[in-house]
Amino acid sequence: MTFIATEPIGSIPRPAYLQQAMQAFQKNEIPQTELSRLFAQATRETIVQLEATGSPVISDGEQSKPSFVTYPLHGSANLAAGGVVIPFADGHTRQLPQLIAGPFKYEQYAADYLIEAKKYTALPVKQAVISASAMSLLYPAEGIPGYSQQQFIADLLDQAEADIRKCFDAGAYNVQIDFTEARLALKLDPSKGLLSQFIDLNNQVFDRFTAAERSRIGVHTCPGGDHDSTHSADVPYTELLPLFFKLHAGNFYLEYAGEQDKKTVLQSIKENIGENQKVFLGVIDVLNPRIETPEEVRDLLVEASEYIPVAQLGSTDDCGFSPFADDVSTAREIAFEKIKARIQGTKLAEAKVK
Ligand SMILES: [Zn+2]
Repeated sequence: MTFIATEPIGSIPRPAYLQQAMQAFQKNEIPQTELSRLFAQATRETIVQLEATGSPVISDGEQSKPSFVTYPLHGSANLAAGGVVIPFADGHTRQLPQLIAGPFKYEQYAADYLIEAKKYTALPVKQAVISASAMSLLYPAEGIPGYSQQQFIADLLDQAEADIRKCFDAGAYNVQIDFTEARLALKLDPSKGLLSQFIDLNNQVFDRFTAAERSRIGVHTCPGGDHDSTHSADVPYTELLPLFFKLHAGNFYLEYAGEQDKKTVLQSIKENIGENQKVFLGVIDVLNPRIETPEEVRDLLVEASEYIPVAQLGSTDDCGFSPFADDVSTAREIAFEKIKARIQGTKLAEAKVK
């Protein structure tokens, strides 16, 4: 039988007790020790439930990450409010902090989440980290006296490399870079200058790794998923993909189930995917609470196998189910049911593809 790899993207909605505890902690109503205990409990419960779906690769569900983008910055004294604003289609926004002083240093590395997760499972664990390009947005346009943008980029490259390397050192099965600003970059700058700049920056990080390590480095792109809304779904995928596959990475985790014109997307992947690259197609729409059937997942993968060699094809979810800690728009149980459908549907596809 043919093997088709299947992996989650990362986040799973936090249980209600954890949501409440995070809010209570914000208001100084519970101590850090209590919050940490509940983070550990939620991580353990998430991994048990992920294992029960049959998932061959596990993530910690990002139960203790404040968000997929801000985790390295938690508690940094060099940051202030008022950074880049990301507008979503439904009108809500997310705002990044901005750097006010150097040197730039991660306060938290993703490997810490991995080490915690590995306590609770013997299965391979993947770890998601934020892209260097997303972190590059923290440097203010007006500059910082005494800390040049050039010095910032040098520090940023070191930190982004360290974030990935620590994951490998801690035994990550693979590392996924969350590069959700890729498609957004095309919306902000249709000339593709900003996207090219982002790709170049991320490649500078990837080039610090060996070819064998790079085969275990992946990148995720999506039109942004927060409170069931997107920030760049209106940017045609075919504009993004030719540049996206220029990333010096082995695995590409692409939002796909939510795309309207799937044949055009498959054709573009076929034209642009490199020999040593593998594409994990999103077969689960995380913005829609309806649970896909395994047969629907199978059919998407069988169709994709007509364009992409099966050895270079995998399945995933379109995005994390809850990239920001306070997003409860997709119920936790629905997320696990959808993951189960992906895994069963991928098995059905294995029996059908050639
Ligand atoms: Zn995503």
